[in-house]
Amino acid sequence: MKFQSTRNKNLRLDSAETIIKGLSDEGGLFVPEEVPHLEKEELAELSKLDYCERAKRVFAKYMTDFSEEELLECAEKAYIGRFEDDTPAPLVKLGESTYMLELWHGPTCAFKDMALQILPRFLVKSAKKAGNGEKTVILTATSGDTGKAALEGFCDVEGTEIIVFYPQNGVSKIQQLQMQTQKGKNVCVCGVEGNFDDAQTAVKSIFTDKDIRKKLAENGKSFSSANSINVGRLLPQIAYYVSAYADLVASGEITEGEAVNVCVPTGNFGNILAAYYAKRMGVPFAKLICASNANNVLTEFLSTGRYSINRDFYMTESPSMDILVSSNLERLLFELCEKDDGYICALMKSLREHGEYSVPDEVLDKIKELFAAGYTDDKGTEKRIKMLFDEYSYLCDTHTAVAVDVYEKYKEETGDETKTIIASTASPYKFPRAVLKAISGKDMEDDFAAAKEIEQLSGLTMPLQLKELSEKQPRFTKVCKREDMADFVLSTVGGEN
Ligand SMILES: *Cc1c(COP(=O)(O)O)cnc(C)c1O
Repeated sequence: MKFQSTRNKNLRLDSAETIIKGLSDEGGLFVPEEVPHLEKEELAELSKLDYCERAKRVFAKYMTDFSEEELLECAEKAYIGRFEDDTPAPLVKLGESTYMLELWHGPTCAFKDMALQILPRFLVKSAKKAGNGEKTVILTATSGDTGKAALEGFCDVEGTEIIVFYPQNGVSKIQQLQMQTQKGKNVCVCGVEGNFDDAQTAVKSIFTDKDIRKKLAENGKSFSSANSINVGRLLPQIAYYVSAYADLVASGEITEGEAVNVCVPTGNFGNILAAYYAKRMGVPFAKLICASNANNVLTEFLSTGRYSINRDFYMTESPSMDILVSSNLERLLFELCEKDDGYICALMKSLREHGEYSVPDEVLDKIKELFAAGYTDDKGTEKRIKMLFDEYSYLCDTHTAVAVDVYEKYKEETGDETKTIIASTASPYKFPRAVLKAISGKDMEDDFAAAKEIEQLSGLTMPLQLKELSEKQPRFTKVCKREDMADFVLSTVGGEN
């Protein structure tokens, strides 16, 4: 199996090389040359296996330059002993036909752990297979959750350093504290004046800057990415969708082969793209429902074929989805545009230069067959948190609530009663003020005080790793301007060691 770049399909790399590089030199994203298939029998067998075995079988289809033993070892180190009850992705049934896929029982309480606990293990093995002995510098822009999950995943991992940039005013207090208090010798965190798109765009340009890369190479280092542009994040995300389907079969909730919808709260289009690949692999997923918040650029694109970032940017109660430039959409476009790399280059150029592009009707038709899309605002988010709490005593976070609200509206509009998996992407305790306000109407200033109230109202305890933050001192408090990010990177990792 080889991976090719969306902007140069003649470039063909093994998974190890792909994971080391993160982003292709010309700015393209790597995609599998062919999407491997899970035969019916293989799928059926998965329901008898545990999570790590299932994940291994998915990885083995893509990472043919790894042995099965290596893949299983990576999965076991990532998922055993690091997730609550050693159950990385439990399904919780709500009502007749909705299943919450809770992906936030890992060390940082967001779904990013599912991929970022295993990516460093893939990367260390990849460096041994295909590296040139260079140290890897992980450069990451975060809308709030990736940063902490990446820091936790790469903390003190041999042969790596990690720098995380987060939008200074764009993350929750708890998210910021999680990053600022990160321990480890090889980690560094910096706030950026601007929003996530600013930070992500700057990181991408640092990545492809020849001078910076040359300087790094002189010091025996090279960049990689922990953002969802790295294939090493996409594959673990495919695995949990495959596993969720197997769980539904195993528990008798569905029969083998029964179609299921998937609804995903979406920002950078990474999580839902994994569901798309799982479907392409043969998992019987029906509609993929893309849920957005007020930054509804994807809702517009998936329903009209026009992608435009020439619009207002909103800071919402679901900050990890406050994104206008959804990087991973490029992968879907590549797949749906006959892998026409020249065409993808033209679309991305148009996005850079004019802030928009449109795809032809043939492509839009394919999109509409695969996807449904909707959005909701903070009001709809709060209303849905309250409804789930009142009706099922189920507490969900703001991002997940966006998905639930969009899903309920989808069901009303279409009458589609197909059983549906909803990706639940963060612990409600990561966004306690908004959650408390939703369930009780109480508006509290302090995250930790709000969390205490939620504990009393719900009986659900705040994860210890979040509770502890209230007593920790921030270690990284620097904030820089967007145009100073490159200098910050060079001063942090430009030296030898
Ligand atoms: C990152 C994130 C999202 C968005 O996921 P994408 O893969 O970027 O679409 C949604 N919810 C939470 C809690 C997140 O951290």
